[in-house]
Amino acid sequence: MEEKNNLMEKIVSLCKRRGFVYPGSEIYGGFSGFWDYGPLGVELKNNIKQLWWRRFVQERDDMYGLDAAIVMNPRAWEASGHVAGFADPMEDGSSFNTMFQTHVGAGKEAMVAYLRPETAGGIFLNFKNVVDSLHPKLPFGIAQIGKAFRNEIAPRDFVFRSREFEQMEVEYFVRSSEWEGNFEAWRTSIMEFISAVGITKDLVHELEVGDSARAHYSKRTIDFEFDFPFGRKELYGLAYRGDFDLSAHEAGSAQNLKYTEEGEEPFLPHVIEPSFGVDRTMLAVLTSAYTEDELGGEPRTYLKLNPAVAPIKAAVFPLLKNKPELVAKAREIYSSLKSLVPSVQFDDNGNIGKRYRRQDEVGTPWCITVDFDTLQDGTVTMRERDTGAQERIPASELAALLKSRINA
Ligand code: ATP
Repeated sequence: MEEKNNLMEKIVSLCKRRGFVYPGSEIYGGFSGFWDYGPLGVELKNNIKQLWWRRFVQERDDMYGLDAAIVMNPRAWEASGHVAGFADPMEDGSSFNTMFQTHVGAGKEAMVAYLRPETAGGIFLNFKNVVDSLHPKLPFGIAQIGKAFRNEIAPRDFVFRSREFEQMEVEYFVRSSEWEGNFEAWRTSIMEFISAVGITKDLVHELEVGDSARAHYSKRTIDFEFDFPFGRKELYGLAYRGDFDLSAHEAGSAQNLKYTEEGEEPFLPHVIEPSFGVDRTMLAVLTSAYTEDELGGEPRTYLKLNPAVAPIKAAVFPLLKNKPELVAKAREIYSSLKSLVPSVQFDDNGNIGKRYRRQDEVGTPWCITVDFDTLQDGTVTMRERDTGAQERIPASELAALLKSRINA
């Protein structure tokens, strides 16, 4: 356990030191439950979101994207049951609604509204819009990535439980008779995403949520748990919610939200909801990637990040920084590479060993060194992060090679 806590401390410290995640409002003493993503963290987080969006929206024919407003008409949260029931128990036995309140409008006109505690609500409110404008046929899904807010009573464990966080959610609409097959398909898709993003599969465990712990409207729920350094905790959820949400919003809005296909009676589709936390994904990715080993007789720390999510894809160095011809050549190679492969970095600080260590620690998959041979024959050294293995390749082939390896 001590070693695991130690791992958490090391991850938090690396995140702060190298610009992944900073405590929120730090110069004012911090603000519990809020975190700021620094230059490398925002890249990692964006890459995670892009991977998810490409996989679940752009590469599929049955998925539609959405970016709904964070603040919705408060009647929606009444209809969904959140105003009455989105509560956590307090120590004294009373309960506390964890939705953040705000006020919309001025003076007497002002009304209480809420920051959304989950992104899913906006999807249900736009179900009819998407059906009317794009005419999708069942089964189909609507996907959304965005911020969610919960006034957690005890925010803790770094970005695992915070008060402002990000979710990637899908509502997948199906005919009630077809829920089981679709549920299984999502179960597989979630595990495939887990592998693709670089989370160690062996650290993920599926938990069938039993009858007593499941929401009353859900016939089946699986929690995907991950062995975080502080224990086994929920990473993602997958729930079959029947027609609970659409029927609640139909009642609350007095609008007809039924779906119909020619020759059929109108009906409310049932829904399967895979829900992914972005911040928990990042933490699981970092926990999976954090490695300490020995390379060339020296201890080192590196992040074994999947190249697709690594914040820096490659770093370009001149072998020596006091040789203007090497620096000029390295700059030239760097500039042309940067226009073709995003997130490439130039580094000429310290000696080459230090540069490797620095890049290893933030998970940069490849380091490219420009030396005197480059000036003669146009080749560079490309070093691989995990093994330290080096290969000599023509600078002109770098962009194509990197692109194919990033997407492999
Ligand atoms: P928990 O039991 O850990 O509080 P939950 O069951 O309330 O989580 P859901 O309501 O199912 O969580 O939210 C869906 C996903 O959103 C979670 O699987 C998680 O990845 C993410 N999430 C929820 N609450 C937080 C939070 N406070 N901070 C960061 N991520 C969160």
